[in-house]
Amino acid sequence: MYKEDCIFCKIANGEIPSSTIYEDEDFRVFLDLNPATRGHALLVPKKHFANLLELDDGLCEKAMVLAKKLAGKMTELLGCDGFNLMQNNGEAAGQTVFHFHLHLIPRYKDDTAGITWRPGNASSEELEVLVALLKGK
Ligand code: AMP
Ligand code: ZN
Repeated sequence: MYKEDCIFCKIANGEIPSSTIYEDEDFRVFLDLNPATRGHALLVPKKHFANLLELDDGLCEKAMVLAKKLAGKMTELLGCDGFNLMQNNGEAAGQTVFHFHLHLIPRYKDDTAGITWRPGNASSEELEVLVALLKGK
């Protein structure tokens, strides 16, 4: 629940100062030090969970409801034109801090955040294989 060498445990519990924009008994939301865009914030549970798969179900539900609320408020106050929610799990997916966090990234028409990927092509055979696999047939 608290990991001694985890920087987000320390920030979430107020032992290391942060630019906090929201706090309740379960979460702290603070501004990212290396923002993708103006207002980029991180929604972090106060208890330690390494990633989404470890996150408590109740907190998972609360996190999304809170993200929705903050996305609305930030859109209104920052005047952004769009919004990304982003959440990385595992080094291969770009996770660098191994305490669950949800990125709240306001987007502006001409910003340079470049959150994207190169679209591939899926054949109908591949889609069929994946459907069978992922539906657990
Ligand atoms: P991720 O790559 O998804 O693990 O995201 C980690 C994020 O945490 C990055 O966007 C970092 O800029 C941010 N970050 C790391 N340390 C701090 C810190 N002390 N205060 C604020 N943001 C931080
Ligand atoms: Zn932690």
